[in-house]
Amino acid sequence: MALNELVDGFGRRLNYVRISVTDRCNFRCTYCMPEEGVKCLSHRDILRYEDIAFLCAAFAELGVRKFRFTGGEPLVRKGLVPFLKDFHAAMPQAKTALTTNGSLLEEYADGLAEAGLGSLNISLDTLEPEKFRSITRIGDIGRVFAGIRAARRAGLTNIKLNTVLIRGFNDGEVGRLLEFAEENSLLLRLIEFMPLEDDVWSKDAFISGEEILSMLPGGRWIKEENGGSKEDGPAQYFMNEATGRRIGVIDAVTNHFCRSCNRLRVSAEGGLRTCLFSENETPLKAIIESRDAATLREALLNAAREKPRCWSDVKTGTLHMSGIGG
Ligand code: SF4
Repeated sequence: MALNELVDGFGRRLNYVRISVTDRCNFRCTYCMPEEGVKCLSHRDILRYEDIAFLCAAFAELGVRKFRFTGGEPLVRKGLVPFLKDFHAAMPQAKTALTTNGSLLEEYADGLAEAGLGSLNISLDTLEPEKFRSITRIGDIGRVFAGIRAARRAGLTNIKLNTVLIRGFNDGEVGRLLEFAEENSLLLRLIEFMPLEDDVWSKDAFISGEEILSMLPGGRWIKEENGGSKEDGPAQYFMNEATGRRIGVIDAVTNHFCRSCNRLRVSAEGGLRTCLFSENETPLKAIIESRDAATLREALLNAAREKPRCWSDVKTGTLHMSGIGG
């Protein structure tokens, strides 16, 4: 096995890392965290930007090509845009991506475009203001719409709209979401509701990818064989035969992509997780802070080797999405 690349025990090459830059969020989505919120980490418990840069350089040396910055809501952390600028200058060949709830984009879109951000995922589960308020508990959808407009004005491309479909909540909005995405040059991706938290997930609310496909309006949707890049993860892309409209479906519950999973996750406090559903974590913060590149490299290689074959091999049920980077 090559020692200069992150390869796990099943031969999967791990070249995509999602890094949470903060556990904080300015929303309180019902499927993400309990109403009272979760206890926030203190500033000294999370990785500093220079730590993240050191870690990413180590990952890049081991073959990682794509870095997605997540949260919580990454844009609530001060200094993210300057960090991304420096990151791009230091590693221009790396693909950078951001997942955001969109509420602060109006303020930061220009800076993100200047920082060379490669792609942007905006999470938005409904287009209706009241429903948006109820699922986020405190969010203002007007700010998200303004953020989307700002992102387009800034010249950001490759913007995806991520919508978790929940029966009885937003399953009647698929047609409208498609139109909204088209009007705003966004690629809509409809996502199966994942059973990460027993107290918010219910079988009745779950809509399978197969059913999502049957809900798509406007005739035949043809699966694209090479619709996404390898680093794109589990999305499958479809094109409407008549209109050429595209849509992504992420059916990570019914159609596990474990066999081709190429991702690793790092929490805001520097815990490396090799599987979304695993509670096993390799703590990296102290190693990173010591700037011991050899030990860090060894820790990354060892953790990669231990990546579980599939989510069915690990325990599920008690994780909050906000703490593990969505
Ligand atoms: S789903 Fe996203 S926007 Fe909602 S609370 Fe979690 S991190 Fe924040």
